[in-house]
Amino acid sequence: MQLDSLYQEIILDHYRTPHHAGLADPYDVEVHHVNPSCGDEVTLRVELDGDTVKGVTHDSVGCSISQAATSVMSDLVIGKPVSEGMATYEKFLELMQGRGNVEPDEEVLEDGVAFAGVAQFPARVKCALLGWSAWRDATAQALATQGAANEGVKNA
Ligand code: ZN
Repeated sequence: MQLDSLYQEIILDHYRTPHHAGLADPYDVEVHHVNPSCGDEVTLRVELDGDTVKGVTHDSVGCSISQAATSVMSDLVIGKPVSEGMATYEKFLELMQGRGNVEPDEEVLEDGVAFAGVAQFPARVKCALLGWSAWRDATAQALATQGAANEGVKNA
């Protein structure tokens, strides 16, 4: 019970003061993702430096879970290789799909462990995953654009 209230406090902190909120320039790709079941929306920008996540900024509207999860996600991926960010997403997804039976790995998920309780509410899992799906989409597009640009250089 004590742990639950600690987790709640972490989520509320990120909700009240979201990290990396406010869309910033420059960026490579901007996406807009919606979670219609709850009404959450996120606009997210990604900037890559090679295969490193240089920047992620977002403008989020919706419930505290979705906004806090997007804040935590941006902390977890910025400055990391894309592959590491994707691996962290896999861990978070595993936690979210675990229905409360997966022990969160704090080394990897940091403040993301606070969402462990959300896994028991399948309707809210989409809220917690919204920012992650926006980041994965934007990053995949940014990598594809890089690939196309490299092709162009090769063919020139
Ligand atoms: Zn929501």
